[in-house]
Amino acid sequence: MTDPLDEYRQKRDFARTPEPAAERTEGSGTTFVVHRHEARNLHYDLRLEHRGVLCSWAVPRGFSYDPTDKRLAVRTEDHPLAYEHFSGRIPKGQYGAGTMTIWDRGSYTLVKAADWDAAMSRGELKVVLRGRRLRGEWHLVRTQQGPNTWLLFKSRDVYAGPSRDSALGIDLAAATAATALPTDLAAMRWSAVRAPFRDPDWLFEMEFAGRRCFAERDGERAALRGVATTPPAVRDGLLALRCQRATLDGVLVALDGDARPCRTTLDRALAGATTVPVVYYAFDLLHWEEYDLRPLPLLDRKAALRALVPEVPGVLYVDHVIGNGPALLDAIAAAGLPAAIGKRGTSGYRSGPAPDWLRIEASAGAAPTTAAPAPPKAAAARSKPSNLGKVYWPAEGYTKGDLLAYYHAVADVLLPHLRDRPVHLNRFPDGIDGKSFYQREAKAGTPDWVRTVPIEHDGAPVPHHVIDDLETLLYVVNLGSIDLHPWLSRTHSLDAPDWAVLDLDPKTAPFAHVVRIARAAGRLLRGIGLRPLLKTSGRFGLHVFVPLQPGYTYDHSRMFVEAVARVLVRELPDIATVERLPDRREGKVYLDFLQNRRSQTVVPPYVVRPIRTASVSTPLTWDELEDHDLTPQRFTLQTTPARVATRGDLFRPALEDRQDLLPAIAALDDVLRQR
Ligand code: MN
Repeated sequence: MTDPLDEYRQKRDFARTPEPAAERTEGSGTTFVVHRHEARNLHYDLRLEHRGVLCSWAVPRGFSYDPTDKRLAVRTEDHPLAYEHFSGRIPKGQYGAGTMTIWDRGSYTLVKAADWDAAMSRGELKVVLRGRRLRGEWHLVRTQQGPNTWLLFKSRDVYAGPSRDSALGIDLAAATAATALPTDLAAMRWSAVRAPFRDPDWLFEMEFAGRRCFAERDGERAALRGVATTPPAVRDGLLALRCQRATLDGVLVALDGDARPCRTTLDRALAGATTVPVVYYAFDLLHWEEYDLRPLPLLDRKAALRALVPEVPGVLYVDHVIGNGPALLDAIAAAGLPAAIGKRGTSGYRSGPAPDWLRIEASAGAAPTTAAPAPPKAAAARSKPSNLGKVYWPAEGYTKGDLLAYYHAVADVLLPHLRDRPVHLNRFPDGIDGKSFYQREAKAGTPDWVRTVPIEHDGAPVPHHVIDDLETLLYVVNLGSIDLHPWLSRTHSLDAPDWAVLDLDPKTAPFAHVVRIARAAGRLLRGIGLRPLLKTSGRFGLHVFVPLQPGYTYDHSRMFVEAVARVLVRELPDIATVERLPDRREGKVYLDFLQNRRSQTVVPPYVVRPIRTASVSTPLTWDELEDHDLTPQRFTLQTTPARVATRGDLFRPALEDRQDLLPAIAALDDVLRQR
């Protein structure tokens, strides 16, 4: 009998790859593991334990909980059981070169399965997975296209639903294992009352008048805690949650004749005195399956809750606004409702009054606004917005007023990236088709409340604008600025950049090539221990950022990014170039590392670009590169505020996750040597 690990062994040189040796071992018989494998093409390797080895399928597009979404799964060689715990970098030149990380792991059972061999020869395998991301029944079916070509899809069970690759869509590493639903529950409560405020670290939810209670689902049992009779629609809603077990926190609400939540109406409905519908508004998720989620950040718990709640009448998800308290309070006041709750996005769930929860009241003075997005009031006092009706984008019809309203809407996420940096302006007083001028110097006549910083240029100090607050932002936009161009270093350390930037500029090259290079850049940078960030340039390219710890100069960052660019050009010579002269680029994507210099600038996230589509430089997750519909023009002045409201600032790590280049430089050196 042949050894099932022969193929695994033959493909690898164990003197060079860190992967485990080809040995068969005894296991539980029920292990499954999924590796995220960033090889030349990103894919996921699903591995099921059987007879001492891991039977493997490569799934290029990953998993989907939508049962109609059938994914190609290519049967690959069996792996040793020890691979269950393997993660690391497989060096260049070795089979499967790239980074292998454990994406999910757990136990599985074969459905009706007495016989694995029969299922395999029939080419139809049904398994129930119990992992952190993958749950419930999955179906593997061999196609006619070849012995190794299979399809993988979700069976229709409680977990099935809209397309997503994880049951909850969040990382459960910080959750605690807990076999039973928690019994020690007491509600988290607000601890103080505050006026509306803006803070990108906080989210804001509407407060509902009703009855606060926990809701539990355990298999076929569903009930509200402390409520004598759970209304049938609420019970049906809980039984429709996309899980087996959960504890939710929320408010039971009934609406009065004016469609406002009303406690009296609720009491009458619960007593059976009226048939007004009762709805459970869920705003938190404390437990899921075998995990206590209370230690996780609130934003993760809410994302998980959103993934669990289906569209049914009895249970609704309470959405939130990130950062902009006043915007939600205006809406609340306009609706005649009393208050919002502000919650710190990173907070865990704690019982009792907590400083991470604040009540924010719609003050009597804040009269409901009826007008359309008016020019911001606060700024009007100082900078008097002018020519609001002037059309800046003739094709789309966007006006200067639209641009000011946009910047007002995203100010909370944009300003931290502008703060304390000299900025160059690019002014288009007559819109994108009119004359424009690039302006470094803050001219005489700049109001004294606009911060400027003198920077020596040709032997003389030249004042530069610094945009630290909303008023200054709206002031420079009112001057006709469309996009903004801050330095890569800050005013108190002009020679020490805190961002290293690789600009992937396609000019005439197709965007698909930019995506391929960005994938390779992400793979390379993660492989040498960095945590790079990605965003669209807002025009046609992509920007890769690495936030830097203090102590590096522009020479360091430029040489590092140049080395990265040259590795990428070597890897993808047909589509990437570092050729400075546009005529010599032969339609390839230009990898620009020269922005990493004193007095050069970069476009920060969330600024609008002066091009026809009014597209916005938008932070992306690396996985969004796998989205076949991705185009930078999808993110515009019109669509970006909604994305920011639900996803927050994906570029926040550019300010907080400052990284050490030295170990990365050493690791990059190793990579260069291997080639
Ligand atoms: Mn693989």
